[in-house]
Amino acid sequence: MRTTAFISQSALAHNLALVRRLCPHSKIVAILKNNAYGHQFECISPLIERADFLALSHLSDCAQLRAITERPILLLAGVYNARELQQASALNCHIVVHSMMQIGLIIHTKTPLNIWLKLDTGMHRLGFLAAEYRTCLAEISKNPLLKIICTMSHFGCADTPKHPLNDLQLTQFIQRTEGQNSPRSMANSAAILTQSSALFEFVRPGIMLYGISPFGKSDPNLKAVMTLTAPIIAIKTLAAGDSVGYGAIWTATQKTTIALVNIGYGDGYPRHAKNGTPVLINGVLCPLIGRVSMDSICVDISKINLENNLKNNVKINDRAILWGDEKLPVETVARWSDTLAYELITGLSARIRFAKSA
Ligand SMILES: *Cc1c(COP(=O)(O)O)cnc(C)c1O
Repeated sequence: MRTTAFISQSALAHNLALVRRLCPHSKIVAILKNNAYGHQFECISPLIERADFLALSHLSDCAQLRAITERPILLLAGVYNARELQQASALNCHIVVHSMMQIGLIIHTKTPLNIWLKLDTGMHRLGFLAAEYRTCLAEISKNPLLKIICTMSHFGCADTPKHPLNDLQLTQFIQRTEGQNSPRSMANSAAILTQSSALFEFVRPGIMLYGISPFGKSDPNLKAVMTLTAPIIAIKTLAAGDSVGYGAIWTATQKTTIALVNIGYGDGYPRHAKNGTPVLINGVLCPLIGRVSMDSICVDISKINLENNLKNNVKINDRAILWGDEKLPVETVARWSDTLAYELITGLSARIRFAKSA
């Protein structure tokens, strides 16, 4: 009865199909960084089999993914020394090139290399600024073994569709790639959902493939892929005045039935989840009470007994759902914890068991 994350295969297929419908003229680079946003490479075969490209940020993840698929892999942060270049090339990865330092590493390559050039169009994270980019193109043209597959850039504010930086970045990108005949790529999930003019030849969806909205509120067109569950390991009834957990931060004001659920911050459940954060137990949303411990949380289940007029309706070993049900999207838990769904799904610990579900 371990704490388990179920990964829905049909939801993965559904979300990928939605991207195809939204971007009928683009190839899909499925972003699988951080072990598929915490969903585990072994559990996401519909993405691995059906996307056009798979993208990761760390070379160490590439070896793990390459062991299970022959499909093209793009290394988003590129390589940083000759050994990494050799490894990436041995794993048959395409590499992003975003700096003159990386140009220096690859320029004398004696084996063919597929490269994706990254432009900084205003986010000011990775990418060539305008002046550098001209030098970079001149250098690359000297070695015919360097093949530019795509020119890409990344939005800084796509999750705020009206933010003025979006248009500025898009204009920059179009201007700087004008007259170039290689394909282009700009859109992450938020842009795929809101900026049809930013789709180009390749799109790069991440979070939406896992059924999570980049906008912080669940999207009915997406299907949650991960359902995080944990067993109930104790049930007890408190009297008015009894407090719960470390620091005794919650006190019963009336007779209260509580359930102890076997998940805590040591598993990746957010310690900052506030009192009141919903937990789904036997179909009913019940509030978290007291502090989140390392291995457990406490939930007020009085409501279940009241609503159903049943005693002992909840039993030890029943499974609580922490997130991933229609009634309890991970976006909701993220809001109650002052964080993003991205952080919750990538923060699960090695103690969680992963299992595929339909
Ligand atoms: C993470 C990432 C994406 C995907 O972003 P989402 O918001 O998860 O869709 C796309 N492109 C790059 C370069 C990324 O690093």
